Amino acid sequence: MSMILDGRIVRDKIAALLSKKISKMAVRPTLFILQIGDRPDSSKYIRAKKNFARRVGVDVIHNVLPISILEEEIISVIKNYNDDHNVHGIIVQLPLPKKIDAAKILNHIATDKDVDGLTDFNMSKLLRGAPGAVPATARGVVELLDFYKLPVVGKKVLVIGRSNYVGKPIALTLLNEGATVMIAHSKTKNLGKIIKDQEIIISVVGKPNLISDRMVRPGHVIVDVGINTKKGKLEEEIENKKIIGDVDFEKVSKIVKAISPVPGGVGAMTVAALFENLYDMYSQTLNKKNG
Ligand code: NAP
Repeated sequence: MSMILDGRIVRDKIAALLSKKISKMAVRPTLFILQIGDRPDSSKYIRAKKNFARRVGVDVIHNVLPISILEEEIISVIKNYNDDHNVHGIIVQLPLPKKIDAAKILNHIATDKDVDGLTDFNMSKLLRGAPGAVPATARGVVELLDFYKLPVVGKKVLVIGRSNYVGKPIALTLLNEGATVMIAHSKTKNLGKIIKDQEIIISVVGKPNLISDRMVRPGHVIVDVGINTKKGKLEEEIENKKIIGDVDFEKVSKIVKAISPVPGGVGAMTVAALFENLYDMYSQTLNKKNG
């Protein structure tokens, strides 16, 4: 049986640490969460963020705007919170409805409040390996591996998935950490063969059972970022839909060295990492103010 990379344990440790540090601050940090539409999965992730915020002593303002909203109206809301000195971090819950240009919206977040690190400015820092907010999922993956003493330096790491806001930031973060990174995607041929030659596999796709027991070997470290839902029979079961990753966990976990479960793996880490980013950015702003 593999070592289980339990993100909830790490998340709870981060929560305890953050709560201690935040309790010493004169002003509690405030996070603004903007949601467009009412996707049940987005609402669920936002609830997890609000719960974590409560645990660590962060105030949250959560605005839900209708799906029919115009881009200019969204931008105007973001600008208001950019100018609000009582708000220290801003996130726009992704994915946005298809008709909305996500990059355009995200790029209006003030760079010193961009706690998800997804503005072009902060992404360019990531590309250059300069210090700054690392996108939460990427920071979560690195901290999960680090907690379980699985070093990435010099390791052959395969990131499967190349999306701008998840796959690529994970690959760049691991590259900055000293891993030798390969990126696979939907056009990649012979994925099974490529996987065999790698040491750490990070799946960021969104396809159940993409990684099967036949593709892995003992010694592999598998991080499953994918989130897929097994549909319930009734529409009202949506809240209770079973969540699974990209990896056939039951079979793969019998072979590999280490594996992160879904749920309870990277998802939990992503929430914690977001608040670590908020704390880091807020304390930097305070330090600048104080001289
Ligand atoms: P996305 O934009 O749909 O990107 C999926 C990526 O997977 C694309 O790069 C795509 O390649 C690639 N792909 C699709 N089919 C493939 C295949 N058969 N073999 C290899 N690569 C394939 O999705 P995303 O926003 O990056 O999210 C990916 C997954 O991560 C989703 O399940 C999402 O829910 C989950 N997620 C989890 C967390 C967390 O905290 N755990 C956070 C964010 C996202 P092309 O580029 O060639 O199309």
